[in-house]
Amino acid sequence: LQDYAHDKLSGQMVELFEACQQQYSDLVRKEGIRTQLQKDIQHVYAVARLYLTGSSMNGLGCRSSDADLCLVIKGSKRPDPIHVLSVLQKLFRSLPYVEKTQLIRAKVPILRFREKGSDLEFDLNINNTVGIRNTFLLRSYAYADLRIRPMILVIKKWARHHQINDASKGTLSSYTLVLMVLNYLQTLKDPVLPSLQRDYPDCFHPSMEIDMVPEGPKQIPPYVSRNWSSLGELLTGFLKYYATGFSWDKQVISVREARTLPKNNSHEWRNKYICVEEPFERNNVARAVHESIKFEAIKAQFAESWRILQYRKDLNSILPVRAII
Ligand code: ATP
Ligand code: MG
Repeated sequence: LQDYAHDKLSGQMVELFEACQQQYSDLVRKEGIRTQLQKDIQHVYAVARLYLTGSSMNGLGCRSSDADLCLVIKGSKRPDPIHVLSVLQKLFRSLPYVEKTQLIRAKVPILRFREKGSDLEFDLNINNTVGIRNTFLLRSYAYADLRIRPMILVIKKWARHHQINDASKGTLSSYTLVLMVLNYLQTLKDPVLPSLQRDYPDCFHPSMEIDMVPEGPKQIPPYVSRNWSSLGELLTGFLKYYATGFSWDKQVISVREARTLPKNNSHEWRNKYICVEEPFERNNVARAVHESIKFEAIKAQFAESWRILQYRKDLNSILPVRAII
């Protein structure tokens, strides 16, 4: 990593990454709860399996990240997620290591809860298996090049600090933001990343048996890029790209194809401020951004941070690093 950190900004990014990245002990703790919950859930749903997903598993997590869980219940007829979550809510209220359960009726309904006596938060969904597939795709990108994890972690912290990283408030979900970063790195003249779905179709087949999904990408070697840009250059380039290069009204971000697609008139993209293609389901993951005022705030933040970083070349000028560490 030091090869890519020969300027001050890059060094600050590595420092922030090292201070904030999820620790092995954090993962062990989440994994412990997952195992115990799966056991308890199997008393009610005998064949159910529980998977850890999201940033806890994809290599892009912080110490403070929540744990996303997907409960897979196989069977001929699809269970109603709200029904299952209400059954689980009742069960969880009797478990001594769980507290503050809350059923959230979103497009993908979730049960939110905490580990008793701690601030470790969990979001559990039912059968949203695309989240398992894309977690292992993102994980493969995260480890394809040493620069990816620090770059994304810093950008997540930047977006969170500037309040543009909250889909429930009409801004960008972390997942959307990550796909935006990956696509920037894929579309550089000398790409830092390829399309892994194109290069390794068998590892990411959309109908692969779900139990096999975590195994798929284990054999993928690191990507050898000709682009040796430092982390600081890439961060500045990312802000510049979304401030000045990218056409929000004409382009769709496609990590699946490692390029941008022209925005057509299909209902997925029509009248949407930001179009980011889900790599497996091909729908728009950025549909939470549906108010013009939020969209303008997001673009303004890219422009403002790029403007400042160009001449200050100091991470503190766009993100108070000390306060975050
Ligand atoms: P954080 O560290 O902020 O918690 P995260 O990587 O866990 O970030 P989230 O946006 O919370 O990201 O999403 C958690 C996981 O849920 C993602 O990694 C992805 O697997 C899945 N996910 C989220 N949004 C979508 C979506 N629109 N379509 C498909 N899967 C999604
Ligand atoms: Mg998460």
